[in-house]
Amino acid sequence: MTYTELNTPLRTIMTPGPVEVDPRVLRALSTPVLGQFDPAFTSIMNEVMEMLRKLFKTKNEWAFPVDGTSRSGIEAMLCSIIEPGDKVLVPIFGRFGHLLTEICERYGADVYTMECPWGEVFDQQAIIDEIHKVKPKITAMVHGETSTGRMQPLHKIGGYCRKNDVLLVVDAVASVAGTDIRVDEWFIDGLIAGTQKCLSVPSGMAPITYNDRIEKVIASRKKVERGISTAADKAEEIGRGRPMIKSNYLDLSMLQDYWGPRRLNHHTEATSMLYGLREGLRLVLDEGLETRFERHRLHEQALVAGLQAMGLELFGNPECKLPTVTCVKVPERTDAESVRSMMLDEFGIEIASSFGELQGKIWRIGTMGYSCRKENILFTLGALEAVLIRHHVTVAPGKALQAALDTYSTAVKETIKL
Ligand SMILES: *Cc1c(COP(=O)(O)O)cnc(C)c1O
Repeated sequence: MTYTELNTPLRTIMTPGPVEVDPRVLRALSTPVLGQFDPAFTSIMNEVMEMLRKLFKTKNEWAFPVDGTSRSGIEAMLCSIIEPGDKVLVPIFGRFGHLLTEICERYGADVYTMECPWGEVFDQQAIIDEIHKVKPKITAMVHGETSTGRMQPLHKIGGYCRKNDVLLVVDAVASVAGTDIRVDEWFIDGLIAGTQKCLSVPSGMAPITYNDRIEKVIASRKKVERGISTAADKAEEIGRGRPMIKSNYLDLSMLQDYWGPRRLNHHTEATSMLYGLREGLRLVLDEGLETRFERHRLHEQALVAGLQAMGLELFGNPECKLPTVTCVKVPERTDAESVRSMMLDEFGIEIASSFGELQGKIWRIGTMGYSCRKENILFTLGALEAVLIRHHVTVAPGKALQAALDTYSTAVKETIKL
């Protein structure tokens, strides 16, 4: 049997990830492979660390990608600081809060959760009160909750955690590079990002950063003897520290010895992915962080204006809307999956459904990174209108595109850069 050459359809990807990859990133991915200790390669590693610090707005020494999808970064951060019995507080406002809870439980944490209705976020004071009550070692929470399209304000929580010696770990996978995140100013101790969301790089890496407070915890844990000898293979324990980190692959102390000046061998760095990430970061920094956030806001506004003009209703509290994900209520008696299929089959546009209680009730439209472009917004609105009419949904025909175009022309008048 012979197989044909790979020939994937061209799609307009309007989901909350993975999103369309910038052509410059695709080109960077095909750059020749280098050895992992080749100085030409280690200097690329250092550049990526430097660019990540700028993206995260941090002076942290440690900012590097973990190889694996975003959850590898979440798990690396949590498993490196959680010791069995540690109290962790997880405020949950959507699906990814449950993921944080599950990972913490797997590593033996004593997990305390608090929940609010999906579509809402917490008042920061409510979280602070709970931290005061529980006195956890770690508070782990999501910033941009993709499942509900909400964004949790954090700046007050970080300050309280810092004063009270609590570590604040934040999953910012869906928000980094699409909306403002200030690691140092908001007193975030550990933060995890993703590549396939607003960075517009394929899935497969999890850029993270953490400060010296987290590093201190990691350093206090029992070490594995490593170096030139085969002791690494024997995993011989040294020191009298606290319990050893339960993962080799995700052990941040080993990862930082590899990314840092010691360059101790750990895994083989994912060369091509790092090329892609480097180009993705270069694009972000070239565009400028504030300009990039403004662009995400503008296209979000055009999308929202179009959806509402069509007569659709948005899901969730608008005050805490995540700018990179828009949740739309599925009109009554409409088959949500049939609409999604028709969008894909007839127009090549992918939009997302949601999880759990929201499955079949909302669609989620992402405006992330390279997918977040005017032509994509207009195409999606036009196609959705047509598909809904085919599904006998009463919409206000012709209004959506006009409303979106109005948003764009008003923005031009206000000289917002597109
Ligand atoms: C997408 C996402 C993740 C998981 O990312 P993977 O790359 O699929 O592991 C985690 N948290 C949030 C908020 C996300 O949006």
